Amino acid sequence: MDFKLTEEHIMIRDAARDFARTELLPGVIERDEKQEFPAEQVKKMGELGFLGMMASPEYGGGGMDTISYVLAMEEISKIDASASVVMSVNNSLVCWGLDTYGSPEQKEKYLSKLTTGEKLGAFCLSEPEAGSDATSQKTTAIDKGDHYILNGTKNWITNGNSADFYLVIAQTDREKKHKGINAFIVEKGWEGFEVGPKEQKLGIRGSDTHSLNFNDVKVPKENRIGEDGFGFKFAMKTLSGGRIGIAAQALGIAAGAYELAKDYSKQRKAFGTEICNHQAIAFKLADMHTSIEAARHLVMKAAWDKDQKQNYDLSGAMAKLEASKVAMDVTVEAVQVHGGNGYVKEYHVERLMRDAKITQIYEGTSEIQKIVISRSILKD
Ligand SMILES: Cc1cc2nc3c(=O)[nH]c(=O)nc-3n(C[C@H](O)[C@H](O)[C@H](O)COP(=O)(O)OP(=O)(O)OC[C@H]3O[C@@H](n4cnc5c(N)ncnc54)[C@H](O)[C@@H]3O)c2cc1C
Repeated sequence: MDFKLTEEHIMIRDAARDFARTELLPGVIERDEKQEFPAEQVKKMGELGFLGMMASPEYGGGGMDTISYVLAMEEISKIDASASVVMSVNNSLVCWGLDTYGSPEQKEKYLSKLTTGEKLGAFCLSEPEAGSDATSQKTTAIDKGDHYILNGTKNWITNGNSADFYLVIAQTDREKKHKGINAFIVEKGWEGFEVGPKEQKLGIRGSDTHSLNFNDVKVPKENRIGEDGFGFKFAMKTLSGGRIGIAAQALGIAAGAYELAKDYSKQRKAFGTEICNHQAIAFKLADMHTSIEAARHLVMKAAWDKDQKQNYDLSGAMAKLEASKVAMDVTVEAVQVHGGNGYVKEYHVERLMRDAKITQIYEGTSEIQKIVISRSILKD
């Protein structure tokens, strides 16, 4: 067992940290307030290779391991969780999904543009009546020979308006239930494809979340991912890895809030001394640090499992469940350490507290993670 990061890992982590501090920190409060998508910053993330980290170099990807990806996700999330969700969706759902299951033609046409940030991707599974219960797909993709006709509505889509390419899950044959579901690559601008209004959100307000409408959208057959009926498996496999990215996002939000709270506690004085000298505050910091380290171990173990080609369904679900809980607990305490200053925008911790909540909801709620975990541990 070796807990040491390689020099390359440290280099990637430091590059992400540097990028977050110099490019994402300026304006992060304003972007959150105005719900402004970090377009310029995302473009730079693409140029620096943060949008296709694990994808094959043959298609412009970084060919890096999952450990590198979670290290970068943590650093970006410490500063700007809105930027990190864009990064997470593009890397672990869209690029990974296409790289692993796409045809050579799909990779050439789509993946090679997504890995560099020239184009941005979105992953469209959720619907008004299909969230946790993703099998209840109402969106239909009817087979018309050389193409499919897509109809329906998708909800809550991250990068909803800023994406160019959309991986859309839809029901082709209802009788076959989840085995009749397919996944398709849909391009923005195709006739009948409309982006709905932007959601007004509690947190990750810089990311653009939209509903999408498909009205008789013609999708060429070559844009189906995998064999007929592979769509549900595609979505589940992709989300299983995606959860490791969201776990890393949660870890970063927690670590960012902890670092701010620690620094603040060394400067702020009350009763003639820095507040870190009051045991109540010192113990809060001790608890925060311990829970973050425990979550980090779970996140790293899940990433390691994935890199070692081991099954990571269980470790990924545990990492997301725990890291998202830690993100909530730590950010609430970070606000407390800041006192009144914790409640206003310029100290950043209130934003991190609002951002933390989403990590318990998307890519499988905490309750769904517990279903995955309990099924896995009760299986044998
Ligand atoms: C900001 C944001 C971004 C998102 N981005 C995307 C995206 O890019 N692509 C995408 O496809 N989706 C996205 N989602 C959707 C997200 O994945 C869903 O919101 C999530 O899966 C929960 O589904 P739901 O909202 O329908 O809640 P529901 O499924 O209705 O759940 C409501 C509550 O019931 C609980 N529950 C449901 N079933 C069970 C059960 N069997 N046992 C115990 N408890 C249960 C849930 O845990 C939850 O607490 C996003 C959501 C948000 C808010």
